[in-house]
Amino acid sequence: MEIYVDNAATTKMSKTAINAMLPFMESIYGNPSSLHSKGQIAAEHLLNSRERIAKCIGAETNEIYFTSGGSEADNQAIISAARNGARRNKKHIISTAFEHHAVLHTLKKLEKEGFEIELLPVGKKGTINPEQVKNAIREDTCLVTIMYANNEIGSILPISEIGAVCKEKGVIFHTDAVQAAGHVHINVKEQNIDLLSLSAHKFHGPKGIGVLYARKGIILTNIIEGGAQERGKRAGTENLPAIMGMAAALEEAVENMDENAKKLTRLRDKLITELSKIPHSTLNGDPINRLPSNIHFIFEGIEGESLLLLLDAKGICASSGSACTSGSLDPSHVFLSIGHPHEIAHGSVRLSLSEENTEEEIDYIINTVPEIVSYLRNMSPLWRDKVNGIKPFILN
Ligand SMILES: *Cc1c(COP(=O)(O)O)cnc(C)c1O
Repeated sequence: MEIYVDNAATTKMSKTAINAMLPFMESIYGNPSSLHSKGQIAAEHLLNSRERIAKCIGAETNEIYFTSGGSEADNQAIISAARNGARRNKKHIISTAFEHHAVLHTLKKLEKEGFEIELLPVGKKGTINPEQVKNAIREDTCLVTIMYANNEIGSILPISEIGAVCKEKGVIFHTDAVQAAGHVHINVKEQNIDLLSLSAHKFHGPKGIGVLYARKGIILTNIIEGGAQERGKRAGTENLPAIMGMAAALEEAVENMDENAKKLTRLRDKLITELSKIPHSTLNGDPINRLPSNIHFIFEGIEGESLLLLLDAKGICASSGSACTSGSLDPSHVFLSIGHPHEIAHGSVRLSLSEENTEEEIDYIINTVPEIVSYLRNMSPLWRDKVNGIKPFILN
């Protein structure tokens, strides 16, 4: 048995995406910048996939820039907005405490350059109220960057409302929509989004390819210098096979979104209901506005890493939801942002589903997780102290 429930880390490529790529490795391999016919045929496909991707998110074709993935798109979006702001002496940036590191580390870099970074608290539920954004915006705010959906705890944020606030105040709004794409509707015009990041490998497309959408009129700053590709804003020969795969995967995901969300929500809620029965456990993230694919639990008194290894031995590929920043024993910034104490930070597990998961797999997980949790708890002297009333329980 092999059950893959780590789709927030990456997804398996869909057959549609693979088939869309193959001709571009075998025969249509010209460089879109070449003037000969082989190049021009490639250029046509490049333009066509740009159009198709734009359509999926309600953008114009020439507002789509291909990047090497979500991280690069986040970097370029934020740096561009910051440079725009600095030209008008606006150096205040608003974000949240639980963004992806591609956002947070870029903001850290800007902070060292003299920008003021304000990270809004996300509360116990792990979300943002548009009022918080409204109240934080100042005369010198040049950018609001807030993710569409959180990659660890699965909260979906009120992006349309935040977009409306930013529009009213005349502040540029970027959203990292890497986890949202294919799961929730995106329309950059209706939602007043100025900059948006996507990554193909999170919606069954290939790795190493992504999109930065930038509203017409926003001046982008180059991160990669060189040739004049992407209208001079992102150098490097276009990865056409990957772009074709991404376009096919995004169209497929958007087309099947409602049907998939229905199926995933049912499987998710079954898992949540059953795993909630484990004593001293808590579901993290917004229970209502939540990715249909995300289940994130904390089980008091266990080590998430041990749980993962035992799950793996039973054929289940899951994640600790970066409970620990890899390579260190510190709990992740996401975990601390929702107000959990350090003591229980290590006991977390994230299951992120895809529409390929079956009812049988979910039932198997429901049977397996409680067994492993009690096995690990029974081995722990700390747990014995809690059961015997010597140490208090932290979770209900
Ligand atoms: C995966 C992820 C990224 C990074 O995307 P890459 O294509 O792997 O660089 C950025 N933001 C979020 C929310 C993600 O989940």
